[in-house]
Amino acid sequence: MLTYKFRLYPTRQQVKILNDTIETCRHLYNDSLGERSCDWDVGFWKQKQLLTLRRQDDKYLKQVYSQVLQDVLLRLDKAYQAFFKKIMKYPKFKRREKYTSFTYPQYGGFQFKQGKLLLSCIGAIDIEMHRIPVGTLKRCTVIRDVDQWYCCITSDDGIDSIESKSIKNAVGVDVGIENVLVLSTGEMIENPRHLKQSIKRIKELQRSLSRKEKGSGNREKAKIHLAKVWRKVRNQRLDYAHKVSTKLASTYDTVVFEDLKINNMIKNHSLAQAIMDAAWGKLRRFSAYKVERSGGRLILVNPSGTSQKCSGCGAAVLKDLPVRTHDCPSCGRVLHRDHNAALNILKLGLEQAHVEKRPLLVRRVSKFASRKQEARGFIGG
Ligand SMILES: [Zn+2]
Repeated sequence: MLTYKFRLYPTRQQVKILNDTIETCRHLYNDSLGERSCDWDVGFWKQKQLLTLRRQDDKYLKQVYSQVLQDVLLRLDKAYQAFFKKIMKYPKFKRREKYTSFTYPQYGGFQFKQGKLLLSCIGAIDIEMHRIPVGTLKRCTVIRDVDQWYCCITSDDGIDSIESKSIKNAVGVDVGIENVLVLSTGEMIENPRHLKQSIKRIKELQRSLSRKEKGSGNREKAKIHLAKVWRKVRNQRLDYAHKVSTKLASTYDTVVFEDLKINNMIKNHSLAQAIMDAAWGKLRRFSAYKVERSGGRLILVNPSGTSQKCSGCGAAVLKDLPVRTHDCPSCGRVLHRDHNAALNILKLGLEQAHVEKRPLLVRRVSKFASRKQEARGFIGG
């Protein structure tokens, strides 16, 4: 599955319809949650049946495409399933700020016509398409991001059918201290530009927001300002992940990353670290689909010990966080610490490649992947 995100440019009138649609969906979500909370026998299928009846004499529901409404029930059901599996807390009622999107679950409900995005029950909206989606189009989620609109289109691109070629040009990637990427070639790729400034700005704005009186107009203004800086961060991150993954996929046929484990606890997470984790997650996902699209593959390896082992002779060379150089007493190899780790990652990946027959498909990586030992030493708060 691939996801494409495009900016939408609705007219003022369309903005009103989009906002109304979100509100109707939110009310349906909250009503349905209330219903399920009161009666545990009510589930998705029951609510779906009821929805058809309800829609006949509810003027708000009538104005929204039926599949969009069904998807609301499905969202709620997913929240319940996650709760039953003890992955998430019990679903919450959604406030206006927390409910910002709706989904067309099938092509047909949304279509592309004459360079516009045609949404059933809403109309044709101007769209900025920087790429043409490949494969079969599956879903379209319309998202409000403060005062801008976006759509995320998911497509199935039939990756399964691509045969993977033999490995000719592989690279290992290490996320080093200070969050710089180091490749097994020794090349370093810098942080997303300007991200540090944005993080600083977010902290300032959060502080100033907490000083503002609740319910005041100034507080509302500050909230919007903060949401806009967050959007900027997301865009910077996205841009970075696309640039680096394109570079990796165009240069190498095999890319090896560390498989960072999902950590639900999110302990010791500074704001900067959480932001960077999300960036690495995106980078891995994008690299996976880009490299697989050209017949290559992405391999994830176990991260334990990659920074401590010597990439030359395999000896354990223990070093504390501040030690930037790998200096092996057994074989005399001297390297940058992260370069050594990247070489180990590449080695592990190549070993693994001989075991795996099929290319690894795109894997979901948690927003908050757990960090390696060294990352925790970086940036406090
Ligand atoms: Zn050595």
